[in-house]
Amino acid sequence: MSESVQQSLQMRARAYRQLLSGSESLLEGDRLYWTEKALLSLLRELSRRRLQQLAAAWPEPGPTEEAPAALRESMIEAMAEAALGGHELSQWEPVDNGYQAGCFLCGMTSWLGPDGLRYSVLEDECPGKADDEG
Ligand SMILES: [Zn+2]
Repeated sequence: MSESVQQSLQMRARAYRQLLSGSESLLEGDRLYWTEKALLSLLRELSRRRLQQLAAAWPEPGPTEEAPAALRESMIEAMAEAALGGHELSQWEPVDNGYQAGCFLCGMTSWLGPDGLRYSVLEDECPGKADDEG
């Protein structure tokens, strides 16, 4: 396996571990609105499944790097908000200075700094595709 592929899998696994532990820790709270609970449960299951897939593709354990809690929370928050607005956010991809995720429908991008600072440019409601096909 080439080094760049390995690195990208590693980043991906790390992102899903963050999503998993983030959703788990948020689900422990009991002040969640039911939509948040539903989203977080979904997120937890998806992360678990994705991590299993990644583990199968790449059995070696990556270095355990804990993201700051602020970053984890920001990712979850951004995903939850995007979903509530009808956006379909892609997974978080590591970029030069943080992480970014784009909406499959409208193409807008949400960006997080490495410290969890949010620079989201998503509309409150997803405007969707310009022409309404598919
Ligand atoms: Zn959108």
